[in-house]
Amino acid sequence: MKVGIIRCMQTEDYCPGTSDFKAITNRTGVFEGVEEEIEIVGFINCGGCPAKKSVLRARELVKRGADTIALASCIQKGAPIGYPCPFAKKMKDLIAEDLGESIVILDYTH
Ligand code: SF4
Repeated sequence: MKVGIIRCMQTEDYCPGTSDFKAITNRTGVFEGVEEEIEIVGFINCGGCPAKKSVLRARELVKRGADTIALASCIQKGAPIGYPCPFAKKMKDLIAEDLGESIVILDYTH
C-alpha cells in the first residue's frame, strides 16, 4: 500500500500526526489487518476551509505514487478535540470523484 495522508489544516497547530504514523507502524486503526508493506507517500493538510484545495492535494499524492488516500482522523472523527470537519463528506466525495475508483479512500487513520 502506498498511502498519502490528508489532514485538517486547523488541527495542524496542535497535532504532529503521531497517532497516524503509529497506526501505520503498529497496524492499528484503519490499517489493522494490512499485511503488505505500507509506504507513506506524503502527509499534507487539506488546504484550509472549506477544503476545496484538498482535491489538488490528493492529486499530487497520487502523482507521487499513492494508491490510497487516507483522510486523517482529525477530519471525520474530529480527533483530538471531538470537532469533526463540517466539510468532510463533501471533501471525500470530491476527492473520490476526481481520482476515480482505482484509488482507495480511507475515512480515518486511528
Ligand atoms: S476544511 Fe475541514 S479538514 Fe480542512 S481545515 Fe477546515 S475543518 Fe479542517
